[in-house]
Amino acid sequence: MYQPGVGDRLESLDTPSMIVDLDLMELNIKKLMDLLLPTGVNIRPHLKTTKSAILAKKLSKAGAKGGCVAKVSEAEVIASAGFDDILITGEIIGPVKVARLVELFRTHRDIKIVIDSNVGADAINNALAASNIQEPISVLLDLDVGHHRAGVQPGEPALKLARHTKNLGHLKLIGVQGYEGHLQHLHSREERERRCQESMAILTGTADGLREDGFDIQVVTTGGTGTAEFCASFPGVTEVQPGSFLFMDTDYRNAVGTYFSNSLTILSTVISRQGSRCVTIDAGLKSLSTDSGLAQPKNLPGYVHTNMGDEHGALAWEDGPGLSIGDRVEMIPSHIDPTINLHEFYYAHRNGVIEAIWPVEARGKVQ
Ligand code: PLP
Ligand code: MN
Repeated sequence: MYQPGVGDRLESLDTPSMIVDLDLMELNIKKLMDLLLPTGVNIRPHLKTTKSAILAKKLSKAGAKGGCVAKVSEAEVIASAGFDDILITGEIIGPVKVARLVELFRTHRDIKIVIDSNVGADAINNALAASNIQEPISVLLDLDVGHHRAGVQPGEPALKLARHTKNLGHLKLIGVQGYEGHLQHLHSREERERRCQESMAILTGTADGLREDGFDIQVVTTGGTGTAEFCASFPGVTEVQPGSFLFMDTDYRNAVGTYFSNSLTILSTVISRQGSRCVTIDAGLKSLSTDSGLAQPKNLPGYVHTNMGDEHGALAWEDGPGLSIGDRVEMIPSHIDPTINLHEFYYAHRNGVIEAIWPVEARGKVQ
């Protein structure tokens, strides 16, 4: 059976395949650590990007502390791979999901969760009370700092929810989370920084208000690739959650610039020539997400990519010899997280030689 291996060259890969330039990825990690570690904040990378315990461990080795996941099913996979300092950043709602959380917490006590409602908090508390687990689960209040996606409103509503948790013996309030997702991709650095500081003022102000009310707020967690730098230097923030920086995508590079490099591409093959200035490649919607626009062919400036359905894409050009059937093209994803979720393996290479093959362990884990 077809099985590319470590030590083989990229030419041995069938396409489409997801490939990682290790030199660039390692540089992204170093640059993140150089940027953020001197501020003294904890770096808790969001693993919804990589969906990989192997990469989570690599990031920890480089200086990160723990990881975030979006969903319980991701936490199950990452924790069972021996990485369990995990914060689940999305609200856990519904009896099935709550039951899954309790089972996960039974064997992985380092799991931390967020709540933004009495109803949500009560359900988790009741389920833990019905289990024979004595230890409370660590909980963060999820705060709406302007994104309006999830989170309790700051001020009185946040205080009320915190006070409510006092009656819930199986929940231990340890901190606040406020994710300013609406700011990550703002193109103006000044505007991103200014509005991020407004969000951080809401977040840290709420943390202070809770402390004044007697709560022991240890964790103030926030930030993504587009804002982590601003969050980390804001007094009172203890932790940041960037994810996309590791591989980047065209959307992020257009917004936040070139500090981090595009280290992941989808290797594809030209399978047909259509006229004198256009070819078709074997990567379509099933290989590259398009919610943030189309992918860009690497090192082919001036080439225009068009989606041609599930399995195909077109590349057109104005000048020059162009591409021929059988040529290989690396496509830079426009949005990294949903693209990775489409693939089974990362083929990590250095100068074209495969150095590691990592499964996308939590691929498809969206529950
Ligand atoms: N934190 C939370 C709660 C998120 O939802 C996300 C991404 O959507 C991140 C952090 C990481 O952001 P990014 O991948 O943009 O670095
Ligand atoms: Mn994303």
